[in-house]
Parts: sequence; C-alpha cells; structure tokens
Amino acid sequence: MSNGYGVPSVWAATAPEEPVTPPLTETVTADVAVIGAGITGLTAALRLACAGTSVVVVDRQGPGYGASGRNGGQVIPGLKYDPPMLDKLYGPETTAFVGATADVVFDLVARHGLECEAARDGWIQATVKQAHLPTLQARMQAWQQRGAPVEMLDAAGMKAKIGSEGFVGGWLDGRAGRLHPLKYCYGLARAVLQAGGRIHGQTSVVSMERHGALWHLKMASGTEVRAAQVVVATNGYTDSLWPQLKATVIPATSFQVATAPLSDKQRQRILPQQVVVSDSRRIGNYFRIAPNGGLMLGGRGSFREPQGMGDYRRILAALEHFFPDVTGMPIAHAWSGRVAMTYDHLPHLHRPVPTVTMALGYNGRGVALGSAFGTAIADTLLDPTMPLPLPFTAINPLYLHDLHPVYASMAIWYYRMRDYLER
Ligand SMILES: Cc1cc2nc3c(=O)[nH]c(=O)nc-3n(C[C@H](O)[C@H](O)[C@H](O)COP(=O)(O)OP(=O)(O)OC[C@H]3O[C@@H](n4cnc5c(N)ncnc54)[C@H](O)[C@@H]3O)c2cc1C
Repeated sequence: MSNGYGVPSVWAATAPEEPVTPPLTETVTADVAVIGAGITGLTAALRLACAGTSVVVVDRQGPGYGASGRNGGQVIPGLKYDPPMLDKLYGPETTAFVGATADVVFDLVARHGLECEAARDGWIQATVKQAHLPTLQARMQAWQQRGAPVEMLDAAGMKAKIGSEGFVGGWLDGRAGRLHPLKYCYGLARAVLQAGGRIHGQTSVVSMERHGALWHLKMASGTEVRAAQVVVATNGYTDSLWPQLKATVIPATSFQVATAPLSDKQRQRILPQQVVVSDSRRIGNYFRIAPNGGLMLGGRGSFREPQGMGDYRRILAALEHFFPDVTGMPIAHAWSGRVAMTYDHLPHLHRPVPTVTMALGYNGRGVALGSAFGTAIADTLLDPTMPLPLPFTAINPLYLHDLHPVYASMAIWYYRMRDYLER
C-alpha cells in the first residue's frame, strides 16, 4: 500500500491508498491545464470538470503532496484583515466571500461525498496575552454583526474547551471546523477523475511556451500538455517555471508533531469536543486532536526542512508548556511542510497574461481560502464576468528574495521578541 508520498505525517499514516494518478506518458490537449494538485488546483479542476470543461492536472508528486496534504486540517474562514478593513479596501462582497470560505469546503465535502473526517464544530482563536483580547473582541463583533455564529470565551471557557491553563480568553468561530487534509485531497482528486478530468502525478512541468492559441507545458519526461488556459497552483512549492513568481512568496517551514494516542482520562480533559485551536501570537501555535487519538501541535520552526528531532524542540516545548500532562509521551509523528507567506499577509492572484491565472500566498490559511480561490478561479474561466474576491496584482518579487532564510529568520526573531514583550 502506498500513501502520503513518504511524508512521515499522521495524515499519511491514517489515509487510504493514493488515487491512481499515473505519470503523463503522451502529449495531450485540454481546455485548461492546472499545475499543482493541492487544494487550489484540485478545487479549480473539480469545478471545471463538473462544468464539462476538459482539464488536465499535473503535479510533481501527486494529490496532496504539498502543504495541502500536510497541514493542520483547520478549516478557518477569514483573512489577516478584519471585516471593517476588508470592507474599506475591497468592498463588502470581498468580506462576504472571505467569511464564506469555510462554507465552500463543507459544501464540496457534502456535494461530492468526500470521506475526510470533516466536522464543523468550530475554531478557537485563543490568546495568552491580555493585550490581544480587545482585538479579538472587535474581530468577533465584526463577524457577529455580519451574521456569523461567533462568541467570546473567557479564561474559564478556554480551560473547559481546551484543557489548558495557559489561555486568558479568545473567540469561537462556529463557521469553522476540521478535516483530514490528505483524505480531503484524495477525495477531491477522485471527484475530479470521476467528473472526467485527468490527473498526472510524478509529472513536473519544466517550461511553458505559447504557440498560437495554446500553451505548451513541457514535462521533465518530454511529454506535453497543451491548453488554451493555464492555472498555476504551486504555492510554497513554486519553482522557476514562471519568471519571478517564486520570489513573490517566502516558503516558511511549518512543523507539526502528533503524540501517541491520549488516554481516556486525557481525552476527557484535552480538547474534549475536538475543537481546533490557533493562538493569536505573531509566531503562535495551532493544535487539535489527531486521527490517531493523539494531540497534534504545530508552529514555525527553522527555515530549512527539519534534519532531525532536534529541529522540533520549540514545538515540543510548546506542547509541554500548554499541555504539561503529555510531557514525556511518545511522539508518534513529526513532519513539516511549506507555508507561502506574502509581505502584505494577503493571498495573491495574478493574471500576467489573459490565459494564465495564478493564486498563492495563503499565509497558513489555505484549506478554506485555497478551496474558495480554486473554485472562484474556475468560475471566472467558465464565465469571465464572474467576480474574483481580490484584484489581480502584478508579480512583484521580494527584494533580495534569495536571502529570504536570513531576513525571514530575523523577522521571526523580531516577532518572537514582540510576542515575548507583550502582556
Ligand atoms: C504544516 C502546515 C500546516 C498548515 N495548517 C493549516 C491549517 O490548519 N489550516 C489552513 O487553512 N491552512 C494551513 N496550512 C496552509 C495550507 O496547507 C496551504 O495554504 C494550502 O494547502 C495551499 O494549497 P495549494 O494547493 O495552493 O498548494 P500546495 O498544497 O502546496 O500544492 C502545490 C503543489 O504544486 C506542485 N508543484 C509545484 N511546482 C510544480 C511543477 N513545476 N510541476 C508540477 N507540480 C508542481 C507541488 O508538487 C505541490 O503538490 C498549513 C500549511 C502547512 C505546511
């Protein structure tokens, strides 16, 4: 049995066999080519295939190989900016789109019968900082005024829902929930295949050239996909395929661990309702119950991929800090993935030419956003009058991008210091 591409995640250990997505062995032509079989690419392909458009998805490895199959499985609506700022910058339609991104996920799950342990039982943004409470209160109220099922929780509420003493308060967003991300990707991929789309794994695009009305996407194997429209959905795994695209995002490594299964007594105390949680610090942690019944916690690590358990020391320290009674429990799984960060904390949509559309830079919120962006991109390809949630922006490479491990490490140090100094 093969699953999860050898990524040592709890998701790979608990997923069924990968969908069959054989490498491309011949040159094919389609209406739309999608590069990247993560959440963005697969949701775009699914919408297109269901509308009868011929679509071919290619991925260097296969469905869910990138961040989409490795993440925390937290389905969180919203963006870095709160509703009043979104209203001001982009208008209420964008705010409504952003508030409904989790709906897109749960609708897809229901409509296509995706077996991915999806549950809509909320997300808590918790804080250890008294200073963050007014911001969280304002965020909660702004969504409440727009009809969202949200509420504020005090320290006692936090303790009851999380089972940790560390949090002084937070808010619960009832639009949100959780799923098994690798199963979600596999389910999306199977739905694409069922709807008549093609997916080819172990198929890397090495160049793309325009010949008349068609793009010719050349694979490492020499085969080609030819298509009138191309969707680039490569996020933190973006390579040099399109000039400067890679330099628009910082691929930060996010690390996660899952303990061995908790005891019944621990389960009654720690996240008893299985709600998923992120903490509000600039360099914070996120956690939930894993499908093996263990406690899973993630956060920023070093910029390079982990070389051994030593690289997980901050994550393990956070785990023991928030949940002292798991101290010393065996760590069953430890893994990492690349989160694409942008300078303005917003996802970026690019259309450098009318026939190529790109979406990337979800800043760690791509399960719901990626699903909504993928679907919205497909909608605009099907009907160009359909609006997109954010305007297309120019591909603006970050200054001295090649030095990103250096300056991003400095930025993380700076943010950690600010987190530390805040009350
Ligand atoms: C550890 C971790 C935890 C996270 N937790 C959460 C969370 O709980 N909630 C949340 O909302 N978000 C979370 N995120 C972020 C979220 O996972 C991502 O934003 C989202 O999955 C991005 O999806 P995507 O489809 O755009 O990109 P990806 O899933 O990264 O897919 C990109 C794909 O492109 C392929 N590719 C790249 N270049 C080529 C090429 N030249 N040819 C062919 N294929 C190519 C790659 O192989 C890859 O499969 C987390 C991310 C990480 C890493």
